Amino acid sequence: MRLKQFFQYYKPHKRLFVIDFSSAVFVAILELAFPVAVQWFIDDLLPSGNWGTITTVSFLLLIVFLLSTFLQYIVSYLGHKLGINIETDMREELFTHVQRQSFRFFDNTKTGHIMSRVTNDLFDIGELAHHGPEDFFIAIMTFFGAFGIMFWINPKLALVTLIVIPFLIWLITYCNIKMNQTWGNMYSKIADVNGRVEDSVSGARVVQSFTNEEFEIERFKTDNDRFRLAKLIAYKVMAATHSSIYMMTRLLTLVVLVYGAWLNFQGELSYGELVSFVLFLNVLIKPIDKISALLELYPKGMAGFSRFRDLIDQAPDINDRKDAVAVEKLNGDISFNNVHFGYDNNKPVLSGIDLNLRAGETVAFVGPSGAGKTTICSLIPRFYDIQQGSITIDGMDIRDMTKHSLRSQIGIVQQDVFLFTGTIRENIAYGKRHASEEEILAAAKKAHLEDFVQKLPQGYDTQIGERGLKLSGGQKQRLAIARMFLKNPPILILDEATSALDTQTERVIQDALAELAENRTTLIIAHRLATIRDADRVIVVTEDGIAEQGGYTELLETDGIFANLHRLQFQQ
Ligand code: ADP
Ligand code: MG
Repeated sequence: MRLKQFFQYYKPHKRLFVIDFSSAVFVAILELAFPVAVQWFIDDLLPSGNWGTITTVSFLLLIVFLLSTFLQYIVSYLGHKLGINIETDMREELFTHVQRQSFRFFDNTKTGHIMSRVTNDLFDIGELAHHGPEDFFIAIMTFFGAFGIMFWINPKLALVTLIVIPFLIWLITYCNIKMNQTWGNMYSKIADVNGRVEDSVSGARVVQSFTNEEFEIERFKTDNDRFRLAKLIAYKVMAATHSSIYMMTRLLTLVVLVYGAWLNFQGELSYGELVSFVLFLNVLIKPIDKISALLELYPKGMAGFSRFRDLIDQAPDINDRKDAVAVEKLNGDISFNNVHFGYDNNKPVLSGIDLNLRAGETVAFVGPSGAGKTTICSLIPRFYDIQQGSITIDGMDIRDMTKHSLRSQIGIVQQDVFLFTGTIRENIAYGKRHASEEEILAAAKKAHLEDFVQKLPQGYDTQIGERGLKLSGGQKQRLAIARMFLKNPPILILDEATSALDTQTERVIQDALAELAENRTTLIIAHRLATIRDADRVIVVTEDGIAEQGGYTELLETDGIFANLHRLQFQQ
């Protein structure tokens, strides 16, 4: 089943495969023909003493060699090209597939997991894709071809060779397994070294603030030395492999020479046949080596392919309905009708939530952490699908809209702003691709980002460092707001957007946020109640659902949960 799936990936590269494969077959035939030609040269051509024929034949041989060289180049180059093409196709398929996945997928899948699919597994698959079918058929063909001819030349000598061959096969396979083990060990050690480098570079600030540089260097030295040892062992095994295979083949050659000489004395073997036999021994070694390499490559590549397919076979769980409508600009009336939802089916987070938000309204959600505020907001863009009930915008079920058009209507600013490595301009423009320069500048201005950017020597072209490391929390937040001005969605979600900021910075950003919230349905989740004073409505969410709702002052007067929260915060 897997193998059939695997071969599907050759389809787009059929031509390449055919050229590569037939060239390889041709090379193999020439390889088999060479010892036969030498035999004929020694036994028939030499005794004739005709120099003219010999030069003509030599010239023909030269042409054949050139052809064979060219074909070998083709096989090596096109074979690798085929491998890398298949690998690239698969990598693209994987990336595209991951892009389409839902939040639930990312909740349950480790980043490192996907990374090792994209790199290690696909490298192994690429190798197998290239070497697999080609090497297998060619090796089988040359091996049996060579033996056939050897039997035809002299069955006795061929039989002697046949007795030694199993030992050779065993030796080469054993060595290959050993080599793979030691190389595998070496790879895991270099992964440790890489991990150390990665940790101490991305954690450099922590290392230095604890003045643990020496400690890090010591730890690194240990790992680096383990890697050195692992690599030394791998080289030792490699050297032992090469030399013992060398010894075995020479021994075999010696046996053939001695027994061949004896047969020659008996008049059963010509000189040419003896030379041909020795040459065929070399032809025999290659396929054995290839097959035993395949024995290692195949399970490794197939295991990688299985993991790759397992990932690909996970269907995205949030999809457009067949008749989904691409909605134009919505007004932003949002309703939750008896909404039931849990991340696990047996552990409900929301049970029967009813909620109505009018277009343009600003609604604040408050309540203890873990009550489900963020969850409520994640349901509106369909990051997760609800288990029961319905959510509508402007009266239309969000599952009847295309995911793309729905999500274009909703902007989210969170506590952690994710910025991409690149410039400030690029990061603002992420809110609207192909935004004009004027639009970007206007958005930055509205987000109160302008003063800060203008002071930078490179202005909007300033690199923000890896994930915005060179920006302060407030600056990042303003960048996120600028993005939102560009996106200009009718529905806005501010999920603790300013919770990580100090009160001073928060106040500045509050102005920008207030401007952003204008003329949009805005959901604000906030811890500091001071920041939601201007909300049209406050909704108190507890683990039991919506506990209270009403105007800010209205709720204070009711003297319920909200009033309690309020008292606690303002006492401090
Ligand atoms: P709040 O935003 O009010 O602090 P959340 O909506 O983040 O609360 O969380 C509500 C509940 O859902 C919590 O019990 C939390 O542990 C759980 N939860 C939140 N996100 C996930 C997730 N991605 N997978 C599983 N459980 C989650
Ligand atoms: Mg939350």
